[in-house]
Amino acid sequence: MFKAFLIKYGEIGIKGKNRHLFEDALVRQIQLALNQIDGEFIVRKESGRIYVDIVGEYDYEETIDALQHVFGIVGIAPMVQVEDKGFEHLAEQVISYMDAVYKDKHITFKVHSVRGRKNYPLNSMEISRDMGARILAAFPDMKVDVHNPQVNLHIEIRQKINIFSKVIPGCGGMPVGTNGKAMLLLSGGIDSPVAGYMTAKRGVVLEATYFHAPPYTSDRAKQKVVDLASQVAKYAGPIKLHIVNFTAIQLYIYEKCPHEELTIIMRRYMMKIAQTLAEANGALALITGESIGQVASQTIHSLCATNEVCTMPVFRPLISFDKQDIVDIALKIGTYETSIQPFEDCCTIFVAKHPVTKPNLKIIHRSEEKLAEQIEELVKQALNTVETIVCGGIE
Ligand code: ATP
Ligand code: MG
Repeated sequence: MFKAFLIKYGEIGIKGKNRHLFEDALVRQIQLALNQIDGEFIVRKESGRIYVDIVGEYDYEETIDALQHVFGIVGIAPMVQVEDKGFEHLAEQVISYMDAVYKDKHITFKVHSVRGRKNYPLNSMEISRDMGARILAAFPDMKVDVHNPQVNLHIEIRQKINIFSKVIPGCGGMPVGTNGKAMLLLSGGIDSPVAGYMTAKRGVVLEATYFHAPPYTSDRAKQKVVDLASQVAKYAGPIKLHIVNFTAIQLYIYEKCPHEELTIIMRRYMMKIAQTLAEANGALALITGESIGQVASQTIHSLCATNEVCTMPVFRPLISFDKQDIVDIALKIGTYETSIQPFEDCCTIFVAKHPVTKPNLKIIHRSEEKLAEQIEELVKQALNTVETIVCGGIE
C-alpha cells in the first residue's frame, strides 16, 4: 500500500551552503543503497524534504532495510499518496489507511495537516478538525488526544496528498562523502570494524589496511577481514582494502629487537605503513579500534609510543568504550559473528609473555636502531606488493 517514503534527516547544524551539500550527498547515498535491491526508486528533493517514490513492484522489508543502512537518515515514514479529488475522497482514503495500519482500534491520535498550496478549499486547521471527526465517526474505539497521542497522523496537501503516521528509525549520522576520507587499520577482531562504522557514520569515506603474515596467518584469516570490510561497506559504501604482507618485517623485528618490545615496535611500523598508504590515496587521518587499557599495547604509555610515529591525526572512536559496549555495536551492525571466528591474528603470533606496558621511547628508539640495515628496504617491498581489493557495494 505504501508507494513512497518521506526521509527525515537531522537538520541541526547544517545551515546555509552546507545544507545543500548534506542533502545532495544524502540523495546520492540513498540512490546508491536502493540501486542494490530490486525495484525502481526515484529519490527527489522537494521543498526542503527528501522523498523516495516507488515505481511498480518492490519489497517493503528489503527497502526499509536498505534505507536503515544509510547514514544521515533519522527516520523513514512510509506514505500513501492520493490524488486530490476533493475532501470526501480524501476522507475515504484516510479512513481506509487507518483501518489497514491500525488493526487494533484502541488508540489515541491527533491529525496534523499541512496545506502546501493555498488553493485547497480548507485551511490546515479545518482539515485536521474535519478529518478527526470523520475518523472518530468511522472507528468509535479511537480517541483524539492532542497532547500526547499514540498516533500522529500527518496529512500534507501538496501536488499530491501525502498520508503518513509511522516513522521507522534510521541510523542517524551524516551522509558518507560529506567529510573526507580516512584509512582504517582493519584487523579480524571485534573492535576495528566498529571503529570504522563509527567514523563512517560521521560522513567519512573509508579505506582500509590489513597486515597479514603468511604463512603464519592463513588465507582464511585474510578472507575474514575481507568479509568484515564487506559488512562495514553495507553502511559505509564500497571500501578499498589494502592488504600488506607484513611477514618479513615481523620476522626481522623478532630477530633484532627485545621480545617484550615486539608488539609496540610492530604497531609503530603498521602505523607508518598505513600512513604512507593513506597519503597515497588521499586519506587525511588514520582510524584504529584501540581502547585505553584493553591490552598491553593499549595502555596510555603504549598508545603514546605508537602514536609518536604518526604525523596525521589518528581517530580512536572506541578509546573510552568498555568491551561490552563495543560488542553491543558489533552485534547491531552484524560484524560480531565474523569477528569471533577463530583465526590467528598477525599481532598474536609473535607476542611476548610479558610485553612492556610502559614503553620508554628512548629505549624503543634504541631498539629500532638495530633494524637500520634492512628495514627501509623491507617496508618498501611491503608497499610494492600491496594487494588492493574493493569490498562490498556496487557503484
Ligand atoms: P581488534 O579487535 O580491532 O583487532 P584488538 O583488541 O585485537 O583490536 P590490537 O590487536 O592491539 O587490539 O589492535 C589494536 C588496533 O590496531 C586494532 O583495532 C586495529 O585498528 C589495528 N590492528 C591490529 N592488528 C592489525 C592488523 N593485522 N591489520 C590492520 N590493523 C591492525
Ligand atoms: Mg586484534
